[in-house]
Amino acid sequence: MPDSNDPKGEAQPEGARPPQPPLRPRALPASAATPLVTPIFPSVVYRSVDADEMDAQYEGRLPGYTYSREGHVNATVLARRLAAMEGVPEAAGPGVVTGSGMGAVAAVLLGLLQAGDHVVASDQLYGRTLRLMARELPRLGIATSLVDATDAAAVAAAMRPETRMVLVEVVSNPTIRVADMPGIVAAARAAGAVLVVDNTFTTPFGYAPLAEGAQVVLHSVTKLLAGHSDAMLGWVGTDTPERAQAVREAAETWGFTGSPFDCWLAERGLASFPLRHARASANAAVLADRLAAEPSVEAVLYPGRPEHPDHNRVARVLGETHGTMLSFRMRGGRAEVNRFLRAAEALPFAPTLGDVATTLSHPASSSHRALDEAARAALGITEGFIRVSVGVEEPQAVGDALIGALREATA
Ligand code: PLP
Repeated sequence: MPDSNDPKGEAQPEGARPPQPPLRPRALPASAATPLVTPIFPSVVYRSVDADEMDAQYEGRLPGYTYSREGHVNATVLARRLAAMEGVPEAAGPGVVTGSGMGAVAAVLLGLLQAGDHVVASDQLYGRTLRLMARELPRLGIATSLVDATDAAAVAAAMRPETRMVLVEVVSNPTIRVADMPGIVAAARAAGAVLVVDNTFTTPFGYAPLAEGAQVVLHSVTKLLAGHSDAMLGWVGTDTPERAQAVREAAETWGFTGSPFDCWLAERGLASFPLRHARASANAAVLADRLAAEPSVEAVLYPGRPEHPDHNRVARVLGETHGTMLSFRMRGGRAEVNRFLRAAEALPFAPTLGDVATTLSHPASSSHRALDEAARAALGITEGFIRVSVGVEEPQAVGDALIGALREATA
């Protein structure tokens, strides 16, 4: 009880002090058996025994971590798993985990380019990556050219003596066009440019950038790899340790690295990625066929359909893996689209991809809203254009929900 005559307790005898927590111990409790699940290491900072030990760590003579923006256990565990999936050479290290997919894109650009350089990029990249090309890089004195990645001759024609990088996604969002990857690999090689592949849509199961001749692969881990829309992360893998170091230093210095908890969630999500990918891909094929048979659907964009505009290169680029994403154009305008989205309430209308649930997005009101109608039309994105990120649900149920909503909206 505080004494009202002695509120600070100064007169209290030493022995009567309330018990205090002990000073922080250095060692964790010992266990011969190790945890089955990777523990989460939320510590922002790591302690060293003395200055010599800290020197040794900074100089790479001792392994370990010092400050979590510059690396932590959960990032390394996740990076190693991703590097194994993407075939990153052992000598290049496990790559760099970033706090988002955009962090991965930004770390690559800032780590590998400088003022005066030129980048050739696909004109159908993820919207925010396009904004980096259009606004941020020119601000830093780096020129950019956007080209149609389904046309390797256009990619080759855009090269300049100062072109240092080519940046592409293998399957475009949301139009599901398949880039001419063999032609782009050859064009980048001939120009001596670093080829960077954002493999978010395709995943390591759909395309193997490093094995096919790219020097850098990156992901929004937020999407299919983590798979549950509850972790925001990116990752970059490179062919050489020098490139890895340049990207790592950019990420650490600009502050792009990811949190331990997100890495832990992504590691857990990754364990089921092969199963989720197989199920969602099978579901996508079923949905594409069901949509194609609907009179209210003008077109289905899915690499496994024979009428796909790039069908002749699908096998060469994607093999048998047609992916988990499809788009379609429904007949009608905004009124029909709104009716459809409301009727399809079992399928969340949410602008992301790669979740365990099937989600719908409407590019004209979200990712492509900054373009005017004519520019959208040039890409084939009409008001009735819907993108579907296919999930792992029971296929009949998800198909019935989609087709039922379309019929209700267009009746
Ligand atoms: N790259 C692609 C192909 C994407 O679709 C996205 C996001 O949708 C990103 C990068 C950015 O990822 P994040 O949202 O994790 O920053």
